[in-house]
Amino acid sequence: MIDPHVHLRDWDQAAKETLRHGLGVAYRAGLDGVFEMPNTDPPLTSRDAILRRIDTADTAVNSLGIRIFHGLYAGLTAVPRQIEEAVRAWKELFPRVVGLKMFAGQSTGNMGIGDADLQALVYRTLAALGYTGVLAVHCEKEALMKADAWDPAQPASHGRTRPPAAEVASVDDQMRLAAAASFHGTLHVCHISTPWSVDLLRNAHARAPQAPPGLRVTCGLTPHHALLDAALMEEEDGLLLKVNPPLRPKPLPALMLRRLRDGAIDWIETDHAPHTRRDKTEDFASGIPGLPFYPRFVRMLRETGMKEETLVGLTHESICRRFGIAIARSGRSAEEALADEYEFDPFTRAARAAP
Ligand SMILES: [Zn+2]
Repeated sequence: MIDPHVHLRDWDQAAKETLRHGLGVAYRAGLDGVFEMPNTDPPLTSRDAILRRIDTADTAVNSLGIRIFHGLYAGLTAVPRQIEEAVRAWKELFPRVVGLKMFAGQSTGNMGIGDADLQALVYRTLAALGYTGVLAVHCEKEALMKADAWDPAQPASHGRTRPPAAEVASVDDQMRLAAAASFHGTLHVCHISTPWSVDLLRNAHARAPQAPPGLRVTCGLTPHHALLDAALMEEEDGLLLKVNPPLRPKPLPALMLRRLRDGAIDWIETDHAPHTRRDKTEDFASGIPGLPFYPRFVRMLRETGMKEETLVGLTHESICRRFGIAIARSGRSAEEALADEYEFDPFTRAARAAP
């Protein structure tokens, strides 16, 4: 199994988690590989930072004495010279550099490229450089966010600050901009959270007939967007469930789970994003630790009738195929008490809410 979307912190955020800890938890969760996001501190936007990250990760894996694949995304800014450096790093260091990441809207780490003209510039630059790999995009349109709606006393208000429409509009923008630029890679919509976004992607070719034949679109679903709903944020410790994109109201999580079962979603990704309890409750940080819950989610899918072949596709083979990376599938069994490794376990609620 591979988790193609994790944030393992370390470096200047070692208080949240270290590579050694995150990779150890991933291994014990039964994973054969993880792909790490670039909004580290400092961020993975230069060749030097990427090489240093690979070195830190290798040291961690060696010290643990385990076998797990660590890949990472190079982060994109709206500066063409930096984009060129990221693409060169991908060409040179693939498969350790698995692809590129763009934050089309601000999230943790201030890597947001909110302006549509700048997003268009990114796609044009990637097309001109002949980039054919995966571009993972955080899709939430800043123009449709409503920061004023946030009230820490009512954590579920987070859902109104980043409404479903912000995701749907951003997905629409990305497909349009990628097609207009003749982008020839894979446009991957990270942690998709609404059925409307999924349906928009699936109708991509009908809606964008000018899309070049090389353009591919994929999307990934997190366990939290499939199992947890916004109302849980009104319970005790609701701030711990603050995440971007936000948990959605019922019945959206169940509809996302149905789309996963129907084959409309390409793979499962946890968006594992640990913080300290203080970061969550005093600074209202967004992100929840997903890795410890991964084996429970897979077990739930299996026990509720998902075929083994489908599970292997969603947790491993679709990912290898799309990224063009061969990672051996060990089929190791997972330890399930991993949540104890973290300061809080948002998914005990999921266990109650699970169908
Ligand atoms: Zn993420």
